[in-house]
Amino acid sequence: MRTIGLIGGMSWESTAIYYRLVNERVRARAGGLHSARVLLWSFDFDDVAALQAQGDWRGAGALLGEAARGLEKAGADLIVLCTNTMHKVADAITGAVPLPFLHLADVTARAIKTAGCRKPLLLATRYTMEDDFYVGRLRAGHGIETMVPDEDARGIVHTIIYDELCRGVVRDESRQALRAIIAKAQTQGADGVILGCTELGMILSQDDCDVPVFDTTQIHADAAVDFALMRAGGV
Ligand code: GLU
Repeated sequence: MRTIGLIGGMSWESTAIYYRLVNERVRARAGGLHSARVLLWSFDFDDVAALQAQGDWRGAGALLGEAARGLEKAGADLIVLCTNTMHKVADAITGAVPLPFLHLADVTARAIKTAGCRKPLLLATRYTMEDDFYVGRLRAGHGIETMVPDEDARGIVHTIIYDELCRGVVRDESRQALRAIIAKAQTQGADGVILGCTELGMILSQDDCDVPVFDTTQIHADAAVDFALMRAGGV
């Protein structure tokens, strides 16, 4: 079994979900007492969020590059960056280490195509919804046109992520607000929902929507386990 290198802590709430998911999936597939071989580099999210707020993406990228080098040195066979937003500086990781890197937009695109969705709604941080690194990659790399919520709704989603979910707070009122945003997008033609923030699965699930939901945390964890068990003979 290959060793999964997780770059996490952004926030640790979602990294804890990754840790549980990769272990559950390895146990389900390999059986017995098997669990995932994992190395975790977990940031103090306050450090990273401060750089995001200052627009210092170069500085944030430098931190991620350092994390990737540390994981490589410790024996990781692949790098999994446990946040959609920080894929904005994915190049800082791929430029720092020669290890395979499972880009979240790519694995999510595969799931969207398999489900046959043509116009999914993207729910994520403002950085992910408004910059081109994610939406542009889905479009240019995979031919997927995403829909993003309007300005007010983007603010609501962003605030729920940073002020609540990343702090471990899950409020029913916020779930209703997110459901209303999804319902509106459906009237505008959305035929799927991308939970494009690794904390969103804490508050939304397939039960909240009547179109397919793509939970990027689950999709990413699945892809990481596929990679870890890929070698002939599995474990
Ligand atoms: N985990 C989140 C994401 O998937 C947001 C936190 C961050 O800015 O990294 O985008």
